[in-house]
Amino acid sequence: MGEYRLRCVSDRSVQPAYSLACPHDNSLLRTDYQARQIEPKSLPGIWRFLDWLPVQGIIAKAEGAPLTYKSRGLAKELGLENLYISFNGYWPERGAKNPTCSFKDLEAAPTMQRLLERGDNPTLVVASAGNTARAFAHVSSLTGQPLLLFVPEKALDRMWTTSIAKGVEQVTLMAVQGDYYDAIQIAEKVQSLPGFAAEGGARNIARRDGMGCVMLDAALNLARMPEHYFQAVGSGTGGISAWEAALRLRADGRFGSLLPRLHLAQNLPNAPIYCAWKGLEAESPCSDMFDDVLFNRKPPYAIPGGVKDALQETRGEVYGITDQQAAAAKKLFEQSEEIDILNAPAIAVAALEQAARSGSIEAKDIILLNITGGGLARIKEEHTLHRLMPQITVSHWEPAVQFLEGKR
Ligand SMILES: *Cc1c(COP(=O)(O)O)cnc(C)c1O
Repeated sequence: MGEYRLRCVSDRSVQPAYSLACPHDNSLLRTDYQARQIEPKSLPGIWRFLDWLPVQGIIAKAEGAPLTYKSRGLAKELGLENLYISFNGYWPERGAKNPTCSFKDLEAAPTMQRLLERGDNPTLVVASAGNTARAFAHVSSLTGQPLLLFVPEKALDRMWTTSIAKGVEQVTLMAVQGDYYDAIQIAEKVQSLPGFAAEGGARNIARRDGMGCVMLDAALNLARMPEHYFQAVGSGTGGISAWEAALRLRADGRFGSLLPRLHLAQNLPNAPIYCAWKGLEAESPCSDMFDDVLFNRKPPYAIPGGVKDALQETRGEVYGITDQQAAAAKKLFEQSEEIDILNAPAIAVAALEQAARSGSIEAKDIILLNITGGGLARIKEEHTLHRLMPQITVSHWEPAVQFLEGKR
């Protein structure tokens, strides 16, 4: 299980196990698993898909997983006959128990397990607009692995955990004055120091293959791949992951030969992937967004194995969604499916609505809608959410490094 080699997408050259980059160009690395066919294991959460995860062991308590179910309410509203929802959040009545309410839980667990297997116990450095940092903090509370988080000040209210009253001892949280991209730049400086490891973002294969479980769970439930995949994206990593999972499912042979079309959605006006795909001039960033989780100034777009390749190979489409459309879609989803969702997935719901109304998808098509986060209101009914407080606020990397040196 989990036997694999790492290859550059551009030239298929095999690279060392923990590389994040290719030597000759800026290609993504991709996992090439020994198991051509997937055999689900009787293990908790996404560990069921161990054949296609880049780990040998599991974190048994990290039991977040996608929930795939056939929609009735939203399907009826949109006139769709085969709408499936992949719910990635907290909805225990249906069996969804993602501990931090988003599909970042699927990325954090395999990444931390893989780091554990590396053996040298480095401090993992993560820059995040909030949801990723929260998911990693949760796994760290289960495993005790050291973690250093850089989160924009504006996103600090997303930093909560259900597990520990006083915060997590091995987690250092630094608030960043600036946006997500500023946080990434500070993290890049710090992660080059000895004893620290870069998480890698879209370049991290454990993150992508963890997210790919959304597609695997759907295909195993439907006994085939869907024809369409809808997701709200910032970096587009989830889109790349869905495409890569579909490539593996196609090679497996039992799930069909047609790759699902990627329908990726961004929130206007901060929509660089939308602009690049449509050949539009990117608008100057606007600081108020329906969901700033979805803003990444430098998405992995035009690199080998990146978002553009994923869109081209799947005959994909990108949607630009306004705040008003997203707000209406959020209401429609919550009323018709009877569970609360985060703002980001409402952008995907709005894109699905647009595609259904414009006729670019048909009533009978088999559709997978990735609800990338939800159940926050639901989790509050039975858990206290404890705030994680930053130990320091920084605006550039020097004070961050000084602070870490002072702690040694
Ligand atoms: C991170 C995130 C996204 C976007 O993910 P990509 O990395 O762009 O695929 C969408 N929704 C939620 C809730 C997220 O946390």
